[in-house]
Amino acid sequence: MCYYYPKVHPMWQIGKMDTLAQSLDNIRTRITQIEARFQRPAGSVRLLAVTKTRPVEDLEQCLALGQTCFGESYLQEALPKITHLAGKGIEWHFIGPLQSNKTQAIAHHFDWVHGVDRLKIAQRLSSQRPDTLPPLNLCIQVNISQEPVKAGVSPNEVLALARQIAPLPQLQLRGLMAIPAPASDIEDQRAAFRAMHGLFDQINAQGIALDTLSMGMSDDMEAAIAEGATIVRIGSALFGVRPTKTA
Ligand SMILES: *Cc1c(COP(=O)(O)O)cnc(C)c1O
Repeated sequence: MCYYYPKVHPMWQIGKMDTLAQSLDNIRTRITQIEARFQRPAGSVRLLAVTKTRPVEDLEQCLALGQTCFGESYLQEALPKITHLAGKGIEWHFIGPLQSNKTQAIAHHFDWVHGVDRLKIAQRLSSQRPDTLPPLNLCIQVNISQEPVKAGVSPNEVLALARQIAPLPQLQLRGLMAIPAPASDIEDQRAAFRAMHGLFDQINAQGIALDTLSMGMSDDMEAAIAEGATIVRIGSALFGVRPTKTA
């Protein structure tokens, strides 16, 4: 005997699509409004949809709505999605923690890496990036709030690290990334992002041309755009609260 059950009830599927379409539309509208409010050029902030823990169907829905940049944090989860969606013109951003044993796969399958905070990792990505692919775009992660156990290079070491990474072949150093300590007050949020912009200017002034500030998530997107973010990384505001990861 063989019964066929649709995995998801069709009505629910439609409702769900509406919801995702609406939240994507909301975020796009908000970005445009915030750009205007803070005299940022229209279109100067790119939306990176953070799809960690989301099923591939969510990415397909986003894609159908014109969203082509996706951020993933867990390599083992990301690889099947990348395979499944091959050839669809997606730009894949690795935004998770980086360990040496992951660099090979990241260098082969991603277009961007946001969390580099050590020369050794950058050197591995550089040597493992296939020559058949364009250079891997890279952001240095800065521990801007100087938290004791957070990834990221300290603010006073970022220039030295940028000088070492910039010349590496098969990499394109694009800019800086940060996840500041959570703050509920927008002025406190802005202070951390302003400090990031200061570092960005300082490095550019040294002749290392950066064009990317990857900063701002669902809860601090406005402050980040006000202070010059060029990529905001948005997960929960698009897809709802993530299930807590137990593994
Ligand atoms: C999960 C994650 C995000 C998205 O966070 P939300 O608060 O869900 O928008 C952004 N950046 C990084 C590095 C993340 O790991």
